[in-house]
Amino acid sequence: MIKLTGITKSFGRNQVLKGIDLQVNKGEVVVILGPSGSGKTTLLRCINYLEKPGEGQIVIGDSIVDCNRASKQDILQLRRKSAMVFQQYNLFKHKTALENVMEGLVIVQKRPKDESRERSVRVLEKVGLGSKLDAYPSELSGGQQQRVGIARALALEPEVILFDEPTSALDPELVGEVLEVIRKIAREGITMIVVTHEMSFARDVSNHVVFMDGGVIVEEGTPQEIFGSPKEERTKQFLKRIT
Ligand code: ADP
Repeated sequence: MIKLTGITKSFGRNQVLKGIDLQVNKGEVVVILGPSGSGKTTLLRCINYLEKPGEGQIVIGDSIVDCNRASKQDILQLRRKSAMVFQQYNLFKHKTALENVMEGLVIVQKRPKDESRERSVRVLEKVGLGSKLDAYPSELSGGQQQRVGIARALALEPEVILFDEPTSALDPELVGEVLEVIRKIAREGITMIVVTHEMSFARDVSNHVVFMDGGVIVEEGTPQEIFGSPKEERTKQFLKRIT
């Protein structure tokens, strides 16, 4: 259902993605691992066209984008297929939790307000924030703010949710509650691509693990394969350092 072919991206002379091929099936949870600077975040941002890739093709469901000749319409359609959960939550500070979740439904998807409100309440309840609908981000903990970020992505009912190191800005005691919510929605069969350094989470929750280094996919496989018997030296070294 998601297929990336030959994705490249450069910032000036720095080629950050050197031809990424990746396929993700419906309902799969794919974890992307790799050292800092290996291009993981850039890859996620290219999938959502927050960064324009250089070359390659992105297919999500019925949306097909050839990166070097995509029309504005193609890009708009592609962007609606995914939703991003950011490291720094990226909530509107002057809007309540409920308003933050409703925003994309009303403004971007142009859905009726009543229906949007109902759906937003439902997803906020799902992430355990049913009692915080009217709270502003400043009144919420980091873990709660990130759960609003997850609710906002879920409400859009995208074909895939892209998580960019969703727990890396959190104090250690708040990481668990956010991972628990991600686990719960993974069990519901929502397709996800997750960049994370949380190895036990990656091991438990993912169906497929991708190891990136230097803008390429060095190795990929099941969590058992990658964590249990990595083949490539770079993967072995990385796992040794991080675990
Ligand atoms: P990772 O997520 O694996 O840590 P990133 O995708 O964030 O890696 O970054 C990969 C490389 O791209 C880094 O060298 C980084 O400095 C560079 N980079 C990322 N975003 C930009 C940008 N907007 N402008 C210039 N260079 C960037």
